[in-house]
Amino acid sequence: MTFKELGIIEPILKALAAEGYTKPTPIQEQSIPILLKGKDLLGCAQTGTGKTAAFSIPIIQQLVLDREADGQQRKIRTLVVTPTRELAIQIGENFTSYARHTGIRNTVIFGGVKQGRQTDALKRGVDVLIATPGRLLDLMNQGFISLKDIKYAVLDEADQMLDMGFIHDIKKIIAKLPNNRQSLFFSATMPKAIVELSRKLLGDFEQVTIKPQQATAEKVEQAIYFVAKKNKPKLLTHLLEKDPNDSTLVFSRTKHGANKIVKQLAKADIKAEAIHGNKSQNARQKSLGDFKNGDLKVLIATDIAARGIDVEDLSLVINYDLPNVPETYVHRIGRTGRASASGIAVSFCDAEERPYLKSIQKLINQQVPTITDHPFVDDGLEEVPLQPEKKHGNHKQRPRTGHSNPRGGKNNNRGRNTNHRPKRD
Ligand code: AMP
Repeated sequence: MTFKELGIIEPILKALAAEGYTKPTPIQEQSIPILLKGKDLLGCAQTGTGKTAAFSIPIIQQLVLDREADGQQRKIRTLVVTPTRELAIQIGENFTSYARHTGIRNTVIFGGVKQGRQTDALKRGVDVLIATPGRLLDLMNQGFISLKDIKYAVLDEADQMLDMGFIHDIKKIIAKLPNNRQSLFFSATMPKAIVELSRKLLGDFEQVTIKPQQATAEKVEQAIYFVAKKNKPKLLTHLLEKDPNDSTLVFSRTKHGANKIVKQLAKADIKAEAIHGNKSQNARQKSLGDFKNGDLKVLIATDIAARGIDVEDLSLVINYDLPNVPETYVHRIGRTGRASASGIAVSFCDAEERPYLKSIQKLINQQVPTITDHPFVDDGLEEVPLQPEKKHGNHKQRPRTGHSNPRGGKNNNRGRNTNHRPKRD
């Protein structure tokens, strides 16, 4: 299947060729025909699958065809709502790339910065508005934005928006959308609250599901380092010193933890910067920009700040802490191995994180290999089996893999299950 066979028009094909996209990803192949027919879509998928192009390409195409049909003047006809500033910016960049030869214009609005440049762009006129919920409502209340002409509405990363406490904002936004519209709803997971929210947005819809394990977990080379908590900084330094020219994204569960890692690395003369919710938007953009263009080799991020980070040539993802929500693991490792590329993701696991590893392996239905040839192995710990152990019967002990990955534990059962909701960043 090619984009041409999906019925994509020439100016967009030209832009996709320039991007180096040779064929549609599975979510694009499935979603584009549904969207070009004008149907609503419920997409169970996450970033890293080619989701952005799956919705932006058919929207741009329909905007071009609408304009040809009725020669309408420029007004906001598409709204994309997404949880974080970084993701909003990235979606905006994708729209700009794919619409390069069409004259379809977009702008991005988000909080944490002054609104002047955003309202100036709105006054100049746009076809596509990409927004985070808070700033969108704010500018709507100030009269800078009206949603009355929206024909295409996209709610992106809905589960993340719920986790971040945006549910009321989202409901207010949906209430302002005109009835005669095409709606798209994307979420990586589909708990009950998300299904209920999707019903508020969608009419008669079709569903496309791209499972996380299909999307990323299978093509990312993964490994676990069992390590005592106190030795994590040393292990991180050890790994980063091995390949100092590689771009490495390190995940920390907390903002405070991210800052601490930066300080610890500085002591070893490794330059790193942190991005999280307590950093100003400008500082976040600067660090991310430096990381993307290769000036900064090590970026430490919390999950919410890292949403949507798309860095070409990202060599390695390191989970300094294992996430307590297993889907987050799939999001994190999806930062490497984007679309058609393969990547490496390694995770540190201390005794307390063992239950998290169990849930992760269950979700991705894979046993993550263990690396034992490193100086900080937490001795006496055993590999976490994928299947729960049977109480009776003659089941065999799983062998330790001693896997020797390009970047190179064992665990025990002392972990306490401290499962709780992710913190708002
Ligand atoms: P997304 O899931 O939208 O965050 O996209 C993940 C990455 O895949 C981005 O870097 C896109 O530029 C890239 N991508 C999207 N569609 C394709 C495609 N058909 N072929 C190759 N790369 C793609």
